[in-house]
Amino acid sequence: MSPTVKTIEDVIRFFPVQAEEIDSRAADAMKRARERVQEIIAIPDEQRTFDNTAKALDRAASAFYRENSFIQSLTFVSPLEQLRFAAQKTVLTLSEFYVDTFSQNKALYKAFKNYVEQRSFLERLNPEEHYYLEETLKHFKQAGLSLPDADQEELKLMRKELAKLEQDFELEISNDSTKRLITVTRPELEGLTEDFINDLGRSTDGRFVLGVDYPTYKRVLDDCAVESTRRALWENFVNRAYPPNESRLDAVIALRDRLARKLGYKSYADYDIDDQMAETPERVEQFLNEISGRAMPKAAKEFERYKADLPAGITLTPEGTVKPWDWHFIKAYYKKKHFDFDDRVIAQYFPLDKTLEGLFSIYQQFLDIKFKQLPVRAPWHEDVRVIQVTKADGTVAGYLFLDLFPRPHKYTHACFMPLIPALKNADGSVTPGAGIVIANFPKPTHDQPSLLMHDDVVTFFHEFGHALHGLLGATEMAGFSGTSVKRDFVEMPSQMLEEWMWDKEMIKRLSGHYQTGEKLPDNLIDTMIMLKNFDSGDLIVRQIILAKTSLDCFKAGEHKDVTALMHALQEKLRPYMATMPEDHFECSFGHLMEGYGSKYYGYLWSRVYALDLFDTIKREGLLNPVIGRKYRDIVLAQGGSRPPQELLRTFLGREPRSDAFFKDLGF
Ligand SMILES: [Zn+2]
Repeated sequence: MSPTVKTIEDVIRFFPVQAEEIDSRAADAMKRARERVQEIIAIPDEQRTFDNTAKALDRAASAFYRENSFIQSLTFVSPLEQLRFAAQKTVLTLSEFYVDTFSQNKALYKAFKNYVEQRSFLERLNPEEHYYLEETLKHFKQAGLSLPDADQEELKLMRKELAKLEQDFELEISNDSTKRLITVTRPELEGLTEDFINDLGRSTDGRFVLGVDYPTYKRVLDDCAVESTRRALWENFVNRAYPPNESRLDAVIALRDRLARKLGYKSYADYDIDDQMAETPERVEQFLNEISGRAMPKAAKEFERYKADLPAGITLTPEGTVKPWDWHFIKAYYKKKHFDFDDRVIAQYFPLDKTLEGLFSIYQQFLDIKFKQLPVRAPWHEDVRVIQVTKADGTVAGYLFLDLFPRPHKYTHACFMPLIPALKNADGSVTPGAGIVIANFPKPTHDQPSLLMHDDVVTFFHEFGHALHGLLGATEMAGFSGTSVKRDFVEMPSQMLEEWMWDKEMIKRLSGHYQTGEKLPDNLIDTMIMLKNFDSGDLIVRQIILAKTSLDCFKAGEHKDVTALMHALQEKLRPYMATMPEDHFECSFGHLMEGYGSKYYGYLWSRVYALDLFDTIKREGLLNPVIGRKYRDIVLAQGGSRPPQELLRTFLGREPRSDAFFKDLGF
């Protein structure tokens, strides 16, 4: 038996702290998994039950997956090179092992299929158990287990090769991001605040160092008045992991195309979307076209507005388009000039500690749960906060690690990383879950605490939405726990909770000036909300470009020129933006790898549902615990144990609609 998890110490024990430990932990995990799978296969068919076959498989896979998650988390957050390297190597070994032992194991498939077809109807199974059988059988078939042996061997090799390429692609992004630095002189930083400049690193010759981490990048592109500085940093940013990732991406596309055809699909996109809410690439395409038809006219109007009033020194290209390194600067200038709106001023009202406190108090009331920061040091860094989440009856729902500031070699985006699945036990008790919230917010400086821009606060709510889905989604089957839902539904809870940060009362409640404690003044909140849709046309168009890129890369065909494909989409959908030949953003577009693949559309797709639910909840009150508990119990608590459409229908009492989505965007 694997150790049971109750306290935070139990969770922390799972993090390897030495490189040597990683190997032995992985070896143990593989040995246990192999034994358990062998036990399942060895059961005589006439003795198969849900418990000894289906549930045993679920538990074996989840125990293995848990070890894998802890080791993998080190590749995202560990500052120690030795540990990170050992973890990267081991994660690959584990993923190959998973292919052989679980997803492509023909004997296991036969045992499982035999139980489903011959014995499952003899037992009284609940809906979650039935759904587990259906889904697992479907996944086995999708993995090609009904194909002849020779084909299967080939598939296995392809999957292993893909896993290696995907890992290398992701690692290249974080490693190269750490190395990409430019140095500039003091006058080349004009427009940026003293405080920001004083906190920058210096090169040996006294120049100022600018990295491509998000806080620095955003700040420089928004505020630096010197075009050459913005341009140099932009070029560095859009060339992260270029050129090494170019050939990796080509290889991934070719391999995935062959894999999908081997499995009997027209294309990888067809294979990848088959199991999703959307079901087919055609339906996704139709969905994206419907949105772009409404977003493009708005985006064009937005551009006209900026064009009529460019900041001094900013010029368009001879073709009349904007240079991409000027775009954020133009927008920030316009907002400052016409609305007296400055993200930096707003940020003074969102110091990290106060924001976190406010976020806790909102969730506590709405979802009827409690947060407590534990006086515990996370094993990998002292900046990480450790939070315990409990339910109203005192049971621990789980533990969260908040790793919020940029560091060299750390994962460069924001995400929630589940570590331990929350489980509902047969006796009604709950086994707590655990996970890490990763973000890259501005660090505290010499004389200021960490101040979050409103965008950062929204990101925080977003990732916390995933985290609570993870902890409150305690299901019977570990494979359904928390965020283990369809990929085009997984962004629903996170995007829904973002909306709290666009509500006047909630913003007021959360804000507090870092020096005076004063709430954000009404006029600033009103302006901020009014500006929500100010550039929604362009933002959505940009999302559509990414979604279509991810879809088009994986349409039928082994060879794609992704740079050309992305540039063509850009020219068509964002005609006011100059397309630069040196832009290789696709090389750092990590979503093209494992997890999303062709499914980047899932953000927009699940946002439609997020807005529909939010609209419904808002009518009842954003702090109303009655509707909050209903949401918690009907949606979050179910994890992936029911089809998403069913959860939505049960909660809404009707079919979902897209009105709220379009209204919210001002289309
Ligand atoms: Zn998300």
